[in-house]
Amino acid sequence: SRPVVAIVGRPNVGKSTLFNTLAGERISIVKDTPGVTRDRIYADVTWLNYNFTLIDTGGIEPDSGDVILSQMREQAEIAIATADVIMFITDVRQGLQDADAKVADMLRRSKKPVVLVVNKVDSFEKFMPDVYEFYNLGIGEPYPVSASSMLGLGDMLDEVVKYF
Ligand code: GDP
Ligand code: MG
Repeated sequence: SRPVVAIVGRPNVGKSTLFNTLAGERISIVKDTPGVTRDRIYADVTWLNYNFTLIDTGGIEPDSGDVILSQMREQAEIAIATADVIMFITDVRQGLQDADAKVADMLRRSKKPVVLVVNKVDSFEKFMPDVYEFYNLGIGEPYPVSASSMLGLGDMLDEVVKYF
């Protein structure tokens, strides 16, 4: 069966943008309750010869209230339980945050394959110096991407599919 790749990360790092870019669709919202629009969270993605199911855990409604860290923990637990590979998304503009480090610790302890993605690197020349601090998360090499400008996605996906 097709591998499952889960996207995890803080709010506003660009999870949905990356999901939509990889799903190849500009619009991926589902209206299942009148008056409520929700992000779609599953997509079948094809990359070269690889097919996988992509999950945006940021679109999963939390049970645990609206505290960001507990919401992220819950989403990370779902990713750890269901995914073959986890794409952990961070934001070069905001830099390394405490919540990133806490979720990285959870992911590292899970022993699941994790690909560390540093998003919003819209210019490699301008932002690469800020990418290196993400090595401090201790979960491997940071892959710089721009989800909105579609930069770096090939190298990042090459790393993801190595774990299939
Ligand atoms: P999510 O909360 O993690 O799902 O984040 P969203 O995908 O909703 O994006 C949050 C904000 O970041 C939006 O304003 C996006 O347009 C912006 N964004 C996402 N990806 C990029 C990127 O690669 N570069 C820049 N400059 N902005 C981005
Ligand atoms: Mg989102």
